[in-house]
Amino acid sequence: MTIKLNDRLRSLIQDEGPLDLATYMQICLTDPNHGYYTTKKPIGRKGDFITAPEISQLFGELIGIWIIDTWQKLGAPSPFYLIEAGPGHGTLMADILRTITKLSTPCAKAAYVRLIEISPTLKTMQKDKLSAFDIPLTWHENTDDIGDDAFILIANEFFDALPINQYQFVEGQWAERAIGLSPENTLTWGLKPSKFNTTLNPKLNDIFETSMSAQKIVADLSKRIKTQNGAALLIDYGHLKSGFGDTFQAIKNHAYANPLEDPGSADLTAHVDFDPFQQIAAKAGLRAKATTQGSFLLAMGLLERAGALGANLTTQQQEKIKTDVERLAAPEKMGNLFKVMTITRSDITPHGF
Ligand code: SAH
Repeated sequence: MTIKLNDRLRSLIQDEGPLDLATYMQICLTDPNHGYYTTKKPIGRKGDFITAPEISQLFGELIGIWIIDTWQKLGAPSPFYLIEAGPGHGTLMADILRTITKLSTPCAKAAYVRLIEISPTLKTMQKDKLSAFDIPLTWHENTDDIGDDAFILIANEFFDALPINQYQFVEGQWAERAIGLSPENTLTWGLKPSKFNTTLNPKLNDIFETSMSAQKIVADLSKRIKTQNGAALLIDYGHLKSGFGDTFQAIKNHAYANPLEDPGSADLTAHVDFDPFQQIAAKAGLRAKATTQGSFLLAMGLLERAGALGANLTTQQQEKIKTDVERLAAPEKMGNLFKVMTITRSDITPHGF
């Protein structure tokens, strides 16, 4: 199956020349017949990576509390769209719906869930997990398609799966990293001319990454937050200030893989640069606030909630909760690497920042 994608990429390069990284990522991840997200089961112990909601229910419960609070701050709009981009197994949304159903009947009654998902396999898993809730669910292919009403959008590990371009500073100018063919006709890295520039000061061979797809989504969301009344909570691994560095990686079976080998078989990701998101939001007259996942979860009451969850459990179960909490929030685990950004109207002060 993946052989076919390799052949297709090679003939595309033969016809059109080297591919920029964004095009390569887009094809490898989302090709309808051979793409990684469209055809594989990426998440979980048996998949290629594990995510925060799959580690502990506490993650989704705290986000559920954040949603109720934000919904109230938006003026309790009814109805409103509760949107998740890239819901994976549906675990995060299940934990959120359980929480809002328990803690705020008006919020749960007002919610219409919209799930943005390209994978048919994951859509089925999400349907199975979420149909038990008495809340309307619909599926959508992309974030352009989220309707005209008030909304709260959440995304965990969605933006890191969006295509990026990479530029490298060589011989006093910027060139774009591209994927071409070696003399043996295998996929190989190269450079092509580029008009890219940045105000940062590069050294020889420095690499700069940008994701136009991510920035386009944030610009569209910002416009909607302003005109439709809404808020967004974006969680991902990445950095709050733009800088140089190559963060592009392929992950297969919980280990690094060669991103040009067996295209379509590995998860391709890059760190999310939250810096341009902040600027896009500010330009739209909105407020973007950001912090680390660790500090967000602690401010949302992670430790108190963990204590309550463990109250009547065995020592062994309590130990498991403690390990999970550390994994989510400890600086040397996910706590610092993962960032949380919220985009809201500037008169709203979101919880947890
Ligand atoms: N949020 C989940 C899953 C993260 S994996 C969790 O935390 O467990 C990334 C998710 O985004 C998957 O559901 C994947 O199928 C989806 N996805 C990736 N690229 C996408 C795209 N371009 N459009 C829509 N969904 C996409």
